[in-house]
Amino acid sequence: MNKAKELQKIKVDMEADKKLPLISKPEDVIPGDGNPNAEIVFIGEAGGYHESIQRKPFVGNAGKLLDQMLRTIGLPRESVYITNMVKTRPPENRDPTPDELSIYSKYLDRELEVIQPKVIITLGRFSMGKFLPGVTISSVHGKVQRVKWKNHDIVVVPMYHPAAALRNGNMMFSFKDDFRKVPEILKEIKEGEKVKEKEEETEQMNLI
Ligand code: URA
Repeated sequence: MNKAKELQKIKVDMEADKKLPLISKPEDVIPGDGNPNAEIVFIGEAGGYHESIQRKPFVGNAGKLLDQMLRTIGLPRESVYITNMVKTRPPENRDPTPDELSIYSKYLDRELEVIQPKVIITLGRFSMGKFLPGVTISSVHGKVQRVKWKNHDIVVVPMYHPAAALRNGNMMFSFKDDFRKVPEILKEIKEGEKVKEKEEETEQMNLI
């Protein structure tokens, strides 16, 4: 199955999952959105009003800021993949509970296993907590974190949530500053991969 089909299957499975909290009908599900072959995956918290109507993550004010920053660094929204920890809208936009985060995590894990991105950018403390438990966002935002996740070595860059940036000038400054680092981070990862491939090739040659 190709990646697009696998992602579609995740959406269908969520819509049919009667155990998912906060869902009363299949249309309540807000699936991830974007390029199945994306090098970068952004993970937010949960949908809000606009997301629940359009059934697409980050399409309200926070999404407009995200889109604007993606344009600034020369990455169209269509080139990345955007998803949430909780794939629906919690009532009154309240914070997701630990139980909700845990139940929805299997679907996020499936998305990540399909896409296998080079970089995961967490937006806000909930998605950061998935990969970096016990860490404060003020101490790590914008810094590359190499973590082991399900036997994969992955690169996570925590960032402030764009909705928080819209409410606080200092966070906006950091959010934009962190975002501008993304192309360089991606470039360094790709260069690192090339070096590793070359080393592996040399190792193979030496074995022959
Ligand atoms: N905030 C989020 O975390 N996700 C969305 O999709 C929209 C707002």
